[in-house]
Amino acid sequence: MINTDDLKNTLLEEKARLMLELSGVGHENPEIEGDWQPSAPDLNIPTADINDTADSMEAFEEAAAIEVELEARLLEVDSALSRIEAGTYGICRICGSAIEDARLHANPAAPTCIAHREG
Ligand SMILES: [Zn+2]
Repeated sequence: MINTDDLKNTLLEEKARLMLELSGVGHENPEIEGDWQPSAPDLNIPTADINDTADSMEAFEEAAAIEVELEARLLEVDSALSRIEAGTYGICRICGSAIEDARLHANPAAPTCIAHREG
């Protein structure tokens, strides 16, 4: 039998880590709760030449890609936490059967059983 309290703690820890990482590459959208946006690079460097600008655009694109991944993971973690609150945690959202314990231990945010795993 799966211990939901343990997994909830794991999820909360992961959420805290994701928020911390997100705050390094982006900032929370003040208008939409839970939405994050990549931080714009500082292009106002007085000594910036064209190469510096290209570098910071590249850094921005990289940060934006990381931001998108972190935000997607945060959404998964958040929805797993709300399933715990709703009492529907550990139920495959495709077939409605119980998600395997081993799968939940490997990924506490998993929304589906092994058979319906995406990717
Ligand atoms: Zn399933």
